[in-house]
Amino acid sequence: MARYGMVIDVEKCTGCYSCFLACKDEFCGNNYPGYAASQPAKGHYWMKVVPVERGTTPKVKLDYIPTPCQQCENAPCISGGAPGAVYRRPDGIVIIDPEKAKGDKGIVSSCPYRVIYWNEEENVAQKCNFCAHLLDKGWKEPRCVETCPTDALIFGDLDDPKSEIAKKLKKGNTETLHPEFATRPSVCYIGLPKKFIAGEVVFADKKDEAATGVKVTLVCGSKKMETATDHYGDFEFDGLDSNKEYKVRLEYAGYKTQEMQVKTLKDINLGEIVLAR
Ligand code: SF4
Ligand code: SF4
Repeated sequence: MARYGMVIDVEKCTGCYSCFLACKDEFCGNNYPGYAASQPAKGHYWMKVVPVERGTTPKVKLDYIPTPCQQCENAPCISGGAPGAVYRRPDGIVIIDPEKAKGDKGIVSSCPYRVIYWNEEENVAQKCNFCAHLLDKGWKEPRCVETCPTDALIFGDLDDPKSEIAKKLKKGNTETLHPEFATRPSVCYIGLPKKFIAGEVVFADKKDEAATGVKVTLVCGSKKMETATDHYGDFEFDGLDSNKEYKVRLEYAGYKTQEMQVKTLKDINLGEIVLAR
């Protein structure tokens, strides 16, 4: 028996919404008895692509976080409904029974990830179920995974060491959304957006030229990262922890070294930094 999970690589997601549309194509107007009633065309986002904007102009980044049901091992939605209305299959998929859950609106608010939607017409709570009806017919992956053009979604058996998903997880660079919820999700992420520190360097005596190749060092406690300014004089450190003190040092032969202290309460654009001789 497989134990299904998904790894979502945020760095590969372009926000094309193909996964969302494939989900709509699979479930809108289609009833799958025992699995899910028909999904409404509007108001439901079983595969929700959440845009996340970071920074301020001119240093702005846009990421997309595809957010389906996290298929939690310790799923609060199961106790959120009447006995048997929401249950976890042996393969790890959490199902809202479209018959037994009828009329129980309280299930919607039981999910801390807010990925359960109320279907007024069918009088039932609904969410992603990894296309369980297809997997049970022999499909290897849900429709969203099949359709993703960038391979940002990886699906498979967490217990099969040869599966792509198990290999990804072994690398140790995955994390879950909101670990503080302690729900043990079967969906993990690579490259969730963190804080960044960026800036632009110019030489005081050559203001018309970009200060290329300036050594920039970032220090946080015993951790140290290094980079150099690019052809535009820009530098950037991404993937930084929130709420931490960092020291930024800029060095270039023949110019005075500059140091500044910053705290990543938010993304930081240091703006134009002028190096003088
Ligand atoms: S993400 Fe929400 S709906 Fe999905 S299993 Fe976890 S608690 Fe239940
Ligand atoms: S289909 Fe793939 S690339 Fe497109 S939004 Fe979904 S996860 Fe991102």
